[in-house]
Amino acid sequence: MAMFKFESVLVTGANRGLGLEFIKQLSASPQLKYIFATCRSPEGDNAKSLRELATKRSNVTIIKLDSSDKQSIENSAVVVKEKLADQGLDLIINNAGIEAPGKLLQVTNEDLIRVYHTNVIGPLNVIQAYHSLITNAGKRKGFAAIINMSSWLGSCAETSCGGMYPYGLSKAAMNRMTRALSYDLIDDNVITVSFHPGWVKTDLGSQQAPLTVEDSIKDTLNFIQSLDKSKNGTFYHANGNIIPW
Ligand code: NDP
Repeated sequence: MAMFKFESVLVTGANRGLGLEFIKQLSASPQLKYIFATCRSPEGDNAKSLRELATKRSNVTIIKLDSSDKQSIENSAVVVKEKLADQGLDLIINNAGIEAPGKLLQVTNEDLIRVYHTNVIGPLNVIQAYHSLITNAGKRKGFAAIINMSSWLGSCAETSCGGMYPYGLSKAAMNRMTRALSYDLIDDNVITVSFHPGWVKTDLGSQQAPLTVEDSIKDTLNFIQSLDKSKNGTFYHANGNIIPW
């Protein structure tokens, strides 16, 4: 089976949780020339571990990108374009995400909108801003990919609990976006996949979660290496199973 050998990758929300672990594991690979680790406050306390990592790994570049701010996303793309020149960007991991209290009678419109903005509009704005870079890689190399970090909680078919309105609705919308992108970008050899990393011990997943970030991202990177066009427009679990929409 052919492996997806990407040389450049952009990760959003790369300063903690799954995003930081992506950068740790990816940057250990010498084949990877460009790792764009983006976060909303590169100088802030929350990005200290990422900054320390970047001083040790020459393939890591930290760039400011706030998922809820279109201008900041566009500004980040200018920096990436300068670095990559005409090479194109092989892989985008739309990882940044938030949740909010979600019980039926307590949920607020402000929280619904805030979570939708960060989890859906932000990732879509990333694809818009990086469209020329990702399609350039697809056209030149015959293959490029977008991973939308979704959640099992965004599956209409699998949902077996109430509540979680801001988060669950946003991930369902992200899944619909994955389907639309899978049609819009395939002619440029760019595939799009929604991905559930498992229930993972992070600030968002809580310490009750069964999986460590190390194991989840190891599985996720194995999955990414296995990507081919047959997986375009699908929704995968880190355990390798397809999740019904
Ligand atoms: P964490 O809460 O640990 O980390 C979230 C990351 O997103 C942080 O880096 C945070 O940065 C960043 N972020 C939040 N808002 C913005 C913004 N406006 N702009 C840029 N970055 C932002 O979450 P996880 O690592 O657990 O989750 C990562 C992704 O995986 C999310 O999309 C989540 O929905 C998904 N996921 C996680 C699961 C789990 O069990 N952990 C299960 C299923 C899906 P900052 O420090 O600035 O807040």
